[in-house]
Parts: sequence; structure tokens; C-alpha cells
Amino acid sequence: MKQNFAIIGLGRFGGSICRALIESGQEVLAIDSNEDRVNEYMNIATHAVLANAQDENVLRSLGVKNMDHAIVAIGEDIQASILVTLMLKELGVPYITAKAQNEYHGKVLEKIGADRVVHPERDMGKRIAHNLVSKNVLDYIEISDDYMLIELKVTNPIFFNQTLQDLNFRTAYGVNVIGIRRGKEIIISPKADEQIKEGDSLMVVGSTVSVERLEGKMP
Ligand code: ATP
Ligand code: ATP
Ligand code: CA
Repeated sequence: MKQNFAIIGLGRFGGSICRALIESGQEVLAIDSNEDRVNEYMNIATHAVLANAQDENVLRSLGVKNMDHAIVAIGEDIQASILVTLMLKELGVPYITAKAQNEYHGKVLEKIGADRVVHPERDMGKRIAHNLVSKNVLDYIEISDDYMLIELKVTNPIFFNQTLQDLNFRTAYGVNVIGIRRGKEIIISPKADEQIKEGDSLMVVGSTVSVERLEGKMP
């Protein structure tokens, strides 16, 4: 379904969201106060506008309130990010995603009504750290402070040709296997009699402590 997005701020974050939305066929109104950035997105966004989003009249005249979703991708200028989020909220934009520069900024954005607050730098830092600690962690999603989902390449022969039941996986490692990736195939919700093969990667969900313990088994 086609939706209308407004993106405020065309740095690396806002810019890549803009490209991805356009590629998936959405309408994007892109706003930035920097002329070079606007020129860069002139032929990419549906509309690219040179304007200061801190000016409420600008937001009104661009019809931002009729958008389905606004993304506040202003990074460095925390005051501008907060003010713009507040104005978008007051204009009645149904869904606002805002990028936080740090934890405090994130808290303020949540308090003033951002529907979703994202911390891309922090999250990417954590992902990379996991990947550096173990090159066998192929992907990683934090579900909450205490739970995570990872995709882990099986490198330890103790797992090869064993079923989940043989390994008593859930009890032994405290995690659930939700998928096994084997080449191009994914076995979703594997049953107890599913065998793990050399070259597989496991998608597991569990407490951070348990997941990290399992990571330690795949040096
Ligand atoms: P990123 O971290 O996403 O790469 P950046 O560090 O390049 O971003 P930021 O300073 O975080 O740049 O700001 C992102 C964009 O937001 C910039 O292109 C900047 O011109 C734009 N911007 C900042 N304030 C406003 C404003 N009040 N109105 C419109 N655009 C703004
Ligand atoms: P449990 O005793 O954990 O409740 P269960 O009674 O559901 O298991 P089965 O589903 O037959 O029994 O699985 C037998 C054992 O195989 C489980 O105890 C568990 O250790 C392991 N197992 C089966 N499926 C999974 C899975 N998807 N992820 C992790 N371990 C599994
Ligand atoms: Ca930045």
C-alpha cells in the first residue's frame, strides 16, 4: 500500500531512508535546510524542499499534517529535532519516528509523543561489537534489554548431525531455535528431530546471557 512520508533532515540516516522508501514505491516529501543536500535528493525524493522545518508555517504550507508518517532525521541539532517533533505532533501527524542522538534526547522525544524513537548509531555500534567479538554472529536483533535474537553460524563439530533433542538444546543452552538456515533454505520452527548440519546457521532467541553463552561455543 502506498503511503506518504515526510523526511526532515537528509543526512546519511534520513537520506538512506528516503532512498529505501522511494525504491519500495512510497511517496516521500524530503525537507532540509541545506541547499546541497536538497539538490542531492531533487531527483530521488518525490519532492525535495529547501526549508527550515523549525518554522511552523513551513510545515503547514507543505501540508505535512496530511502525511501518514513523518521521520525526524535531524541529528546534531537536538533542539531543532525536539522542536520539530513537537510541532509535527501538534499538527496531528499520525505517526512520527524520530532519531535520537543519545539516551536523554531519546527520552525527551518519547515524552513529547514520538511514536517510535530510533538510536541508529548506538544500535549499529552494538551490532558491530557483536560481530567483532564473534565473526560467526551473522545477524543480531535486540528484543529488549534482556532478550535478543541472533543468527549464529555453527562451527563447533559437537553440534554436527545432532538433533535438537539429542542436544537437549532448550535445556542445555536456555534458548529456542526458531529457524535453521541451510544454504538458500530456512527451516522455520524446527522440530525436536531436526538435525543440525555442518554449514548451517541457527536463528535463536533467548536471554542475552544464554545467547552469549551459546556464541561462546562457536569460536
Ligand atoms: P547523519 O548522522 O544522519 O549522517 P548528519 O550528521 O550528516 O546526519 P545532522 O546534523 O545530523 O547531519 O543533520 C541531518 C540533516 O538535517 C542535515 O542535512 C541538516 O541540514 C538537516 N537539518 C538540521 N536542522 C534542520 C532544520 N531545522 N530544518 C531542516 N533540516 C535540518
Ligand atoms: P521441553 O521439555 O523443553 O518442554 P518438549 O516437551 O516440547 O520440550 P520436544 O518438543 O519433543 O519436547 O523437544 C525435545 C527437546 O528437544 C526439548 O526439551 C528441547 O531441549 C529440544 N528442542 C526441541 N525443539 C527445540 C527448539 N526449537 N529449540 C531448542 N530446543 C528444542
Ligand atoms: Ca551524525
